[in-house]
Amino acid sequence: MDESAKIQLRSIPKMDELLALPWVSELEEEIGHDAVKNALTEAIDSVRKSIRDGQFGREDVRGAVIDAAHELIDKRASASLRRVINATGVVVHTNLGRSPIPRSAVDAICDVSIGYSTLEYSLEAGARGQRNSHVEWMIKELTGAEGALVVNNNAAAVLLALAAIAKGREVIVSAGELVEIGGSFRIPDILAFGGSKMVMVGCTNRTHLRDYRDAITEDTAVLLKVHPSNYRVMGFTEEVPREELAALAHERGLIFMEDLGSGLLEPLGIPGVPDEATVRQCIESGVDIVTFSGDKLLGGPQMGILVGREDLIGKMRRNQFLRAVRVDKMTLAAFDAVLREYMRGQSSAIPTIGMLRLTEDDLRSRAEKLAESLRLSTASIPSAKIEIVRVEDAVGGGSYPTTALPGWGVAVSIAGGISSGKLAERLRRASLPVVAGVRDDAVVLHVRTLLGDDEDSLPKIFKEIFRVD
Ligand SMILES: *Cc1c(COP(=O)(O)O)cnc(C)c1O
Repeated sequence: MDESAKIQLRSIPKMDELLALPWVSELEEEIGHDAVKNALTEAIDSVRKSIRDGQFGREDVRGAVIDAAHELIDKRASASLRRVINATGVVVHTNLGRSPIPRSAVDAICDVSIGYSTLEYSLEAGARGQRNSHVEWMIKELTGAEGALVVNNNAAAVLLALAAIAKGREVIVSAGELVEIGGSFRIPDILAFGGSKMVMVGCTNRTHLRDYRDAITEDTAVLLKVHPSNYRVMGFTEEVPREELAALAHERGLIFMEDLGSGLLEPLGIPGVPDEATVRQCIESGVDIVTFSGDKLLGGPQMGILVGREDLIGKMRRNQFLRAVRVDKMTLAAFDAVLREYMRGQSSAIPTIGMLRLTEDDLRSRAEKLAESLRLSTASIPSAKIEIVRVEDAVGGGSYPTTALPGWGVAVSIAGGISSGKLAERLRRASLPVVAGVRDDAVVLHVRTLLGDDEDSLPKIFKEIFRVD
């Protein structure tokens, strides 16, 4: 180590000196003495390491430690799970929390969870009640199914169903439907984990009824259909219609189960977007058990829903595994409120559904208004260029992977100034973070996914991020 590095090491500030800084003691009130001390230690260690490694490029050692400590402590003193503005145009954005829930659902969560509730209590009987009973009747009304059950998410729903009806038995599934949803949900793995044996039939692009028929053995319990949520097999393809699979399963005394993924409760009815089968249509086609998510196209909180034959649902209700994947009271309260919007025929009041149904005319006039207010808020930056542009929005959530929703957005660029990537980063670091699209030299704010007062907040955010200069 050379002499200058030794001098630098000696000028690293002492812990006591850092602890005495006013902003440090203020943040101690937020996250406690120990956490602050740990963050300071981390900052000191990282600067010391970069000096030792010959990587320290700054003059001011003390300043470097303080900057590093500030960043660490600031980050830890505020919640990292926080609200953001979604300006990407992806409606069911998996990384941004999938479906936002309606105000009525938030009110229901507050009402039920700020105090005690009837979660497992029957007021009529004055005795223990069933936690799932609150929402099951509505699910049955909305889908026409005999039985319904809710769990933590759709992955859990599939696992619970298989554990209850196919443990140690064979499950036949088409090669074209061996889906990976992303992360850790892969149909072959889920089947193995649930203790059943997967029997793959057909080819990637074509599976025939006879493929299923020929694969049935004494050990077969289930014919499984899986929605190919996030991909499409196109061209020379064939899949077996639900009615035919149902007929085959029932003729052979088997159970026909479908993992429907998104789970539409009613047709979306958007011009240009082919409607997928609704849960009710699956039930009417003879599917015995349908599983789907609560926070994809349904527009509710994270959960998994199982509907179908009451005798099979009963088996799932009695399965030990249910206890591990049961739904919390806040989720049930939110789901109850969302289902009531469907019951009232007000599904467009559900943000996910409402955003998907917005028309191009609506979006264009909103983009024009937003562009106008952004021009006002950036009036002091003459090089700022703000214009409305056509954009392609997406359903998201692994649904409709090949369908673009025509939309409108506002493109913002700073000629000769900061790059679009840098601008996008500043928006992400704003006090109310904005996640936007980036297109060549511009940041593009898609208006479809702006909610509530986002459009009033954006001009203020632009003022804020340009004050930094
Ligand atoms: C999304 C999806 C899942 C997983 O659902 P989660 O609610 O995320 O657990 C399972 N199967 C299909 C077909 C899906 O689309």
